Amino acid sequence: MKAQPKASHFIDGAYVEDTAGTVIESLYPATGEVIARLHAATPAIVEQAIASAKRAQKEWAALSPMARGRILKNAAAIMRIRNRELSELETLDTGKPIQETIVADPTSGADALEFFGGIAPSAMNGSQIPLGSDWAYTKRVPLGVVVGIGAWNYPQQIACWKAAPALVAGNAMVFKPSEMTPLGALKIAEILIEAGLPKGVFNVIQGDRDTGPLLVNHPDVAKVSLTGSVPTGRKVAAAAAGNLKHVTMELGGKSPIIVFDDADLDSAIGGAMLGNFYSTGQVCSNGTRVFVHSAIKTEFLKRLKARTEKILIGDPTDEATQMGPMVSFAQREKVLGYIEKGRAEGATLLTGGGIPNTVSGEGYYVQPTVFADVTDGMTIAREEIFGPVMCVLDFDDESDVIARANDTEFGLAGGVFTADMARAHRVVDQLEAGTLWINTYNLCPVEMPFGGSKQSGFGRENSEAALEHYSELKTIYVGMGRVEAPY
Ligand code: NAD
Repeated sequence: MKAQPKASHFIDGAYVEDTAGTVIESLYPATGEVIARLHAATPAIVEQAIASAKRAQKEWAALSPMARGRILKNAAAIMRIRNRELSELETLDTGKPIQETIVADPTSGADALEFFGGIAPSAMNGSQIPLGSDWAYTKRVPLGVVVGIGAWNYPQQIACWKAAPALVAGNAMVFKPSEMTPLGALKIAEILIEAGLPKGVFNVIQGDRDTGPLLVNHPDVAKVSLTGSVPTGRKVAAAAAGNLKHVTMELGGKSPIIVFDDADLDSAIGGAMLGNFYSTGQVCSNGTRVFVHSAIKTEFLKRLKARTEKILIGDPTDEATQMGPMVSFAQREKVLGYIEKGRAEGATLLTGGGIPNTVSGEGYYVQPTVFADVTDGMTIAREEIFGPVMCVLDFDDESDVIARANDTEFGLAGGVFTADMARAHRVVDQLEAGTLWINTYNLCPVEMPFGGSKQSGFGRENSEAALEHYSELKTIYVGMGRVEAPY
């Protein structure tokens, strides 16, 4: 098998197997071939991982933040050196083209390790509060054992985006990747050990929706950070609330992109295409509702169709390939089902709409698809499809389009394309979302906070803001005089 790891889990600095766990077959989405066979964690493996994290955490937290940061920066450097190898693995794991993984996956994971490693020396600073002759001070302290649960679209990035702030803050982590993409996180665990991370500080266990609750409900777990769908988020948040655990929820979206009639048209089309077709549309922040001003609709659609039909779909390992398959057969079926709904509900299929006939074999390919004349009530305009399906809607009026853009339970992201900067800022100010872009789309450098509002979640990843979600303040009042008691 092409990508068989030494064992399914990585606990206390070493690979661990327990063949009693349910078999997880890792399939290469471009061919359907089994590339690895792993086992879901048994309750014994879950216990072992959490015990190892608990044991390691105190010692790890006792190091200076600078010493912790140095190890993360070492890991970032190793990831950059091994970028090709890690990207090839990510391509096998997800089916995403190497053209993307080589620039977007391990590299953004390394960015997170480097960023948090870099800010580590001051990341945990507290404050001093003068109170007359007395005073108080605050310390920022870790939460303890934290759990990360990942989705399948950016496995290595998600592992690093969660691990980097958690570890810099002095926590230990047990990470469970998606059962669809179990491979990348194991490599991150290996690299962290090579970089000098003490054993047990970052552990990886495999499993699915039955394994997740074992982690979330465990009494030794202080926090859960989930990247996944809204329904899963609701379950995990509810379970965590039972024991008042901290949570970060990075969930789904149905984000709007608004293109005004003064926008640079090719740039707006490029942004909309990146925000719908990158990673075969499997990006949470995608701008899947593209509102186009009616004055430019005809030209927008003409150029969009021409550019979409030129996208090179094919073998993800070929450097020229621009779009790979969906992650799984089930996900492709789901996407094809939405395309059928779009047709049935009366949207105009501009291009795509099926399985490409240019690709042979068993891969889970679907054509990049654009629907025009989409209206607000259609299923394809309301539900997250999580595939390469762009919905184009028309608008004429600014305040009307803002209200329509906000008329969704989601609030992850949004974008506006216009030459009028006053309008750009006015519009983003009114859009109900956690992350917004002006005249670009989907760029998520680690320096800026990322996360959702409304049903798209809460908490933030990346930037200094992420540290607040992996630590808490301890306040110490210092009495400098005698205690004057009235009794
Ligand atoms: P999913 O919700 O099916 O699964 C996510 C993870 O949760 C998996 O590891 C799964 O095993 C685990 N899980 C499932 N049920 C669980 C439970 N009851 N308790 C604990 N863990 C459980 O999502 P997916 O299909 O893997 O990913 C796609 C979704 O993720 C989309 O909705 C997408 O928008 C979202 N996503 C969000 C972001 C973000 O940052 N906001 C990023 C990527 C993906």
